[in-house]
Amino acid sequence: MMKRILCALLSALLLCACAPAEETSVGANAPSMVFMEPEPETVGIVGALESAPVSDAPEPSPEPSPEPTEAPPLAGVSIGIDPGHQEHANSEREPVAPGSGETKAKVASGTQGVRTGIPEYETNLTISLQLRDALEALGATVYMTRETNDVDISNMERALMFNELNVDLALRIHCNGASSKSVHGAGTYARKTGDKQAESERAATLILDALCEATGARRDGVFLRDTYTGQNWSTVPCVMVEMGYMSNPEEDEKLNDPGYQKLLVAGMSEGICRYFDPNYKPDATLREDSRGEAVAALQARLIELGHLNDVADGIYGAKTAAAVRAFQAAAGLEETGVADEATQEKLFAK
Ligand SMILES: [Zn+2]
Repeated sequence: MMKRILCALLSALLLCACAPAEETSVGANAPSMVFMEPEPETVGIVGALESAPVSDAPEPSPEPSPEPTEAPPLAGVSIGIDPGHQEHANSEREPVAPGSGETKAKVASGTQGVRTGIPEYETNLTISLQLRDALEALGATVYMTRETNDVDISNMERALMFNELNVDLALRIHCNGASSKSVHGAGTYARKTGDKQAESERAATLILDALCEATGARRDGVFLRDTYTGQNWSTVPCVMVEMGYMSNPEEDEKLNDPGYQKLLVAGMSEGICRYFDPNYKPDATLREDSRGEAVAALQARLIELGHLNDVADGIYGAKTAAAVRAFQAAAGLEETGVADEATQEKLFAK
């Protein structure tokens, strides 16, 4: 890879070396002209790098050059994750916003699962740690306000931590609670006014869309509020995710189920990738725990080909994996049970 780039640069430099000669009629004794009008040369370098034809690049040594690898989608991005609440609430007061006379408790106790009995701060941390790992795997640098439950950090302090680090996006990970057990669904919150409002709202929308696509959760909505201390003090784009209602027995169980947590993390990660790159295309590989329309289409095709005797429910379980293995065996592919790009290409080929 490095060699190819060097060769491309060398050929580009050779091209550049010719260019000034053609410009001598414009400014023969003005060496600065080369720097004043760099556009044709710049295009040349970019073009050479992009096309970098293998056949044109002389290979001085026979050692194999590795395949060029793409940068991960979140390379160079820094993200702050604040798992909401903590083991013990802190009822001391702090200003709800810079310069505000209104105060709020430093950290509220949060809600608790009506069926599981698990406190919100615990669920928030469990999922946040998985989200950290997922975002790091995508190339991001991740900062956490806490990695244990036994801390005492106020909502204002959490916001200031991320301001200090100047993260590209701050996430506040929470679960919701309502007086009615029937209320369920996921929602995101951004500020209505103030610093980085538009960016925060855009991130809140993209994250919620992707979260609901991945989990099938009801879309509670994107809410704009200037009532949260943790957001009002933030000077970076900041989103609070309410992943679901722990006051709803079914959603409480889901929020504390490792399989559902994986879907939540996958959805939030996807939304974050879309926020940083509007052209982001996710890895199309489908595997166990994948779900959605793409899985249903895969299942329908496996049924059509006689590998799957089931309904296309859009949930990639053990039966779907076995059917994919059967197809892979018949198609002469490695039997992984994972529908990667090559498998899908063969499966849908007419
Ligand atoms: Zn909360």
